[in-house]
Amino acid sequence: MMAGSHVALGAAAWMAAAPHFGQPALAPLALGLAALGGLLPDVDHPKSWVGKRLRPVSDLVAGVFGHRGITHSLLAVVGCWWLLRHHAVPAEFAAPVVVGYLSHLAGDLLTPGGLRLSWPFKGTWALPVCRTGSAFEPLVVALLIAAALATVPDRPDPRAALEKLGFCWQCEALPLPPARPPRPPKRNLADQSPRGARG
Ligand SMILES: [Zn+2]
Repeated sequence: MMAGSHVALGAAAWMAAAPHFGQPALAPLALGLAALGGLLPDVDHPKSWVGKRLRPVSDLVAGVFGHRGITHSLLAVVGCWWLLRHHAVPAEFAAPVVVGYLSHLAGDLLTPGGLRLSWPFKGTWALPVCRTGSAFEPLVVALLIAAALATVPDRPDPRAALEKLGFCWQCEALPLPPARPPRPPKRNLADQSPRGARG
């Protein structure tokens, strides 16, 4: 999947997972950490978004393990589990990053390239739904975001913001604005001019 899709899926996965960690679903910092976690596995690809920014490291990881190698394997999943279990990092930081990381693996699983979950052994696991960069990818991502949003108990109601922008699909259910007072009649200047005066 594209980097933007992984960012969106990381944040969406955190929205759904946060209540299970006793954290609010829409906290901006946690959402940002989840989005970052959603990019981390591609540190094994020097031309990926995160790989370009961690260039010496990504060159090394790609050279030793290859793309979709150890960072996309069950070993990485176990590493995520260990990070959460042993509180090596405070949970409020570790949990969003780990959830974002796992969302990346789930996203790659939906592409034909799949994952080498049993790395270093051969064998690819895939549930091919969309090709990376295809027109279908944003649709799949949007559906997953909508599904994640639906699980958020205290999600904001977008209707108020949309109505401010002029979109309104339940106008008849809304109270009507107060009626304007009638305008005073315009004074007819012609009647006051000497030419307009009669009688
Ligand atoms: Zn990947």
